[in-house]
Amino acid sequence: MGDDNNSVYGSSTSSTGPVMPRQKPASRNRHGFLYFRSLNSIRNKIIFSLLSVYVLGSLAAVAALYSTSHIERKIDLIESFYELNQKVLETRRYEKNYLLYGNDVDLLSALDYLDEARSALDELRHEKVFAHASSRGVIELETYATRLKRVYSTRLKRIDQPPLSPEESARYRDELREQGHELTQFVLEVDALARKGVEEDTRRYRHVALVILASALVVGGVLSLSLIRWIIGPLEYIRQAVAQIMRGELTDIPVEPVSKGCVECADLIRSLNMLFHVLEDKHNQLIQSAKLAAVGKVTAGIAHEINNPLNNISLTAEVLLEDLPNIENDDRMEMVSDIVTQADRAREVVRHLLDFSRSRKPSAWEKVDLVELIRTTQSLLRNQLRIGRVNVRDEMSKYPVIVMGNPNQLQQVLVNIFLNACQAMGEEGGEIKIIAREDHGTGLVEISDTGPGISEDIRRNVFDPFFTTKNTGTGLGLSLSYSIIKEHNGELMLSSEPGKGTAFRFTLPLHSV
Ligand code: ADP
Repeated sequence: MGDDNNSVYGSSTSSTGPVMPRQKPASRNRHGFLYFRSLNSIRNKIIFSLLSVYVLGSLAAVAALYSTSHIERKIDLIESFYELNQKVLETRRYEKNYLLYGNDVDLLSALDYLDEARSALDELRHEKVFAHASSRGVIELETYATRLKRVYSTRLKRIDQPPLSPEESARYRDELREQGHELTQFVLEVDALARKGVEEDTRRYRHVALVILASALVVGGVLSLSLIRWIIGPLEYIRQAVAQIMRGELTDIPVEPVSKGCVECADLIRSLNMLFHVLEDKHNQLIQSAKLAAVGKVTAGIAHEINNPLNNISLTAEVLLEDLPNIENDDRMEMVSDIVTQADRAREVVRHLLDFSRSRKPSAWEKVDLVELIRTTQSLLRNQLRIGRVNVRDEMSKYPVIVMGNPNQLQQVLVNIFLNACQAMGEEGGEIKIIAREDHGTGLVEISDTGPGISEDIRRNVFDPFFTTKNTGTGLGLSLSYSIIKEHNGELMLSSEPGKGTAFRFTLPLHSV
């Protein structure tokens, strides 16, 4: 049983109890950090899986943080572009108002907004997305500023300069309008460019997130399946091995199939093997003591049952020997008849014992019709039933109930039950009801009486050998009947209601044609 490496025998079984397998210490490198030499235990596998999940989760979290901060910056950028856009649009609005109504306040507001647009552009110049467009932006803005100022300066009536001709003034205004248009175009273009950049970034981050999610699903799925395989596989192996042992195949559970992949399972199997051996030893010890107890009980019973008649015989014989001439003839006859009765009683006990041992011999079985067997037994006991004033109520099937068995032994069971019923009902007599029929694939026989019934404490012992409540009983009838029915693969049961009666019922497998 078992090999040298994995055997659970040896010192452990001879010691006081099973020795639990020692856990191998976790390996440490010289820096003191734990490392896993191999994934050969469930613990290491779980730690490895958790670490993988942890690393993947951390990567996903870092990527998510990076993406959000990046997108936040892009949103700020869009807001800055929006700011520039707004300032330019405001400048142009005042510029248009001025050109329409010629109100100087509008011109001054336009100049103010232009300053604000310039500082907004200044802030954007260091942004990477804007780097290549910034110089053009500065040129557009500054050209526009120059033209706006030129228009403004024509409003200031300066003595040293000749007044502008209407054509020249119109030209200045046209050039200003044109440059304003250029500036607006430029601002709209860079705004669209920035939005496009953010959209592209968002799309890229979405892709990255999808890739991370897909890899998390794949890695998580693979890890979960592997964990299930790593854990469920060996457990299923152990379950099947234990089921095999429970079916009666008493061998050690081999450790090799799980020793490489699951050290905990190997340890568990070793412990189970040890446990089975300890239990087996205990079981054998129990059987041994039960056998000894049974032999003791039977021996005591036989001694008691045979000693009683022998004592009576020897006492009566001694009296006869000592005083034979003085004993009246009738008394002598009575004493000799006593000796014969006691000898009969001893013979009865011996006969029952012989029946016991005979019933264990494999006997030639034949088809037996239970209905017919009961009728034959009834006619055998006709006289006893009549003397005992017993009325028999027959509720037997009209059809044969065929089982396989030894008819003599089965008849002996019926006789025991019938006679017990008659004796229980005493001199007043009563009624015996007999049922015999097929029932759920079995042949069922029930014999009930209207006697005093059996109390709970006596009911527990009636099938024990030598248990009797009668003065002249042997206590072997029911125990013998029980073993006969068991040998016929059947069941013998008893139900009783004290004060109302007792029913014995047995079932035997039906003979399949
Ligand atoms: P015995 O008849 O020699 O006593 P049995 O084994 O046949 O031995 O019966 C054991 C005991 O079971 C009887 O002594 C009796 O107390 C009880 N018993 C059996 N059958 C009946 C019954 N029909 N009614 C009441 N008690 C019964």
